[in-house]
Amino acid sequence: MDLYLDANATTPVLPEARAAALRAMAEDFGNPSSVHTTGLKARAMMDRVRASARRVLGAPTGDLIFVSGATEGIQTAVLSALAALRARRDAPGASPDLLLYGATEHKAVPEALQHWNALLGLNLELRAIPVGRDGRHDLAWLRAHAARAGLVCTMAANNETGVVSDLDGIAEALAGSPALWLVDGVQALGKLPLRLAERRIDYAPFSGHKLYAPKGIGLLYVREGAPFTPLMMGGGQEGALRSGTENMAGIAALGAVLAALESGDVLASADELQRHRERLSAALTQAFPGLVFNAPAALCLPTTLNFAVPGLSAKLLLDLFDAAGVRVSAGSACGASKAKPSFVLQAMGLPDWQCESAVRLSFGPAADAAFIERACAALRSCGEALRASCLAPDPADATLPPARLNRFVVAGACCYVLSDPASRSSVVIDPLPELSTQLQRWLGCHGHRVLAVLDTHSHGDHESSATALRQALCRPVDRERPVDKLGWPQDVDALLLGPLRVSRLAVPGHTDDATAYLVHEEGHLVAAFVGDTVMPGALGRSDFPVSAPQAFADSLKRLLEAVGPRGLLLPGHDYDARLATTLACEREAQPLLGSLWSEGLSAEAFAARKAALEQGLGMTEDQTVACGARIAATDEDTCVTLDAEQAAALLTRSAGTRVLDIREPYEQQVGPMPELVGTGVLETVPQSALLDALPRWLASAEPLLLICRSGNRSTQVARALRRLGRAQAWSLAGGMALAVPLLARPIAEDAALSI
Ligand code: PLP
Repeated sequence: MDLYLDANATTPVLPEARAAALRAMAEDFGNPSSVHTTGLKARAMMDRVRASARRVLGAPTGDLIFVSGATEGIQTAVLSALAALRARRDAPGASPDLLLYGATEHKAVPEALQHWNALLGLNLELRAIPVGRDGRHDLAWLRAHAARAGLVCTMAANNETGVVSDLDGIAEALAGSPALWLVDGVQALGKLPLRLAERRIDYAPFSGHKLYAPKGIGLLYVREGAPFTPLMMGGGQEGALRSGTENMAGIAALGAVLAALESGDVLASADELQRHRERLSAALTQAFPGLVFNAPAALCLPTTLNFAVPGLSAKLLLDLFDAAGVRVSAGSACGASKAKPSFVLQAMGLPDWQCESAVRLSFGPAADAAFIERACAALRSCGEALRASCLAPDPADATLPPARLNRFVVAGACCYVLSDPASRSSVVIDPLPELSTQLQRWLGCHGHRVLAVLDTHSHGDHESSATALRQALCRPVDRERPVDKLGWPQDVDALLLGPLRVSRLAVPGHTDDATAYLVHEEGHLVAAFVGDTVMPGALGRSDFPVSAPQAFADSLKRLLEAVGPRGLLLPGHDYDARLATTLACEREAQPLLGSLWSEGLSAEAFAARKAALEQGLGMTEDQTVACGARIAATDEDTCVTLDAEQAAALLTRSAGTRVLDIREPYEQQVGPMPELVGTGVLETVPQSALLDALPRWLASAEPLLLICRSGNRSTQVARALRRLGRAQAWSLAGGMALAVPLLARPIAEDAALSI
């Protein structure tokens, strides 16, 4: 089930608009510039659509030009205004020196301003008009700068938040200003009466695809008498304002949408949209206790909800929603590893966490009550799934037990929780302050006794939150035990969690107190938490005042004795999503380690070569201090992805292929995997619990096909497995979106398997 709630990005094409476009392509296909009957019919259709647009936009006068979309409309308007300003500058008298745009404008506007300002050699000063906490323009600021402005650009409604601008207030602030005025009407089309001609707006661009017309058609309104310079020169179409044969199918489709707006039959009224929003808001608040809306509802389009949930990243929410079929956007551009904060919310002065974890849910006026009800039900099921995974403040009665090795990553730094579900006991390793709330919630929800909160070393780059966390999480009996400065209880040599035994190994180097924690089960090493001593592609730096560079080589030798070349090492930092490493693997990747073992370097020679590597160590991508000199990622080129056809072929041909659904339990709960073709065996192992499964996967030989939502996480994990020496680890490109149609159907026996 697809519940598309991302209408501010784009919309599907309305059936009436599709039919109109088809008619324009198949029957009334004429060129509106032709003078024969076929052409005349096409022109009549185009004229009808333009007339309808004039009524809908309140633009009985001025020009209304068909363009390819808002971006083209914005270019044309900016070029027109700036060309006029250049002419004015060359004339005698004072000329404006500022170009103003709203701080929350779509980037098409400031980018166009910058581009044409430079290209035309105007070199006017670009200034962003500040917005208040409510997202609205600071009118006092605008008033103070209006006299110097040559062009002012203010959107009618914001695409991220839905905040509607006070156009009358802006008009008032611009009274007496020489400025031309551009209003980006994209998100207002069909949702707000714009009364363009009444308002002295000079330019207003629109995009059809934001309101049920196809991509590639838009409109530009130009006030009567406003300066104009064509962007496109040629055959003189559109009254020579925009040359090029018109997009007749797009125009016909847009006409059908405008007709629907005028008739009021198909699209919902403002009141109905308000009711839809109220129901969605209520479902969201119920599903995600603590949720905050990022803009005041009274000032927003009724079709946009922008919100954030404390403790839940935008990426987590997007993964969860997408699994449930709910298509929304991160309010911010969401990279694979780290969300970029939303500049719109930043301009509004919202706290960092809100800017980083914002999610936008938007619908269009074609949404009906039944659709909204289905969306509300899906949102509620998402809340339930989080509760069952211990990620909500109010956990469910029955929750899933945690994995034994759990990893939490913040900006490349790793925190681990070692848990024994049977005895319900846990140890936290390298807690990060950013995770305190999440860890408390998670451990509290699982009802685990926290035996210790340990650091692998005293950190150079961040404060440890171990003491505070120990106070908050441990029972008095564990809290009051005397501990050393890394949190190890001084009265024991080993910590016991059911069958798991945790012991210490001193590995001074990165710091003089650096310690590895070794986990054994029945005498076998399960894993070693090695902090920054060894990381994938790096050794911990040893140039801090608290470092012990001369001790580093011996520490590595001791580590090798304790864990062997293939023992699983869990690092304190994992900048490149490699999950884990082994000394054998690092020996291959890091020449210095290779030399230590093959050439028998002395402690001094090792320290000297290491110091040379660490010279000029910069910041990481996350702007944190790099904790080691990284060896460049060399495995990026290895092709680990299969497209859906290849994946289906692999499943059909290779008996026993393991299909690993690495989505988190909350994603799996709301969106189960489809049935597999062939003889594949499905295993669900959430990425957060991958470390548990790693040793088993590394020891096996059958092909592994990893699947996640979009293919990003599974590609990272497949790469990490290959790096650890596991051949035949594949990722399904495109993730679940492509898995559903293809894995569920048998493929032809002779389909090519070229992997
Ligand atoms: N302006 C606003 C407010 C928008 O939301 C968008 C699209 O997201 C644009 C301009 C650019 O529109 P298009 O990409 O259709 O040209």
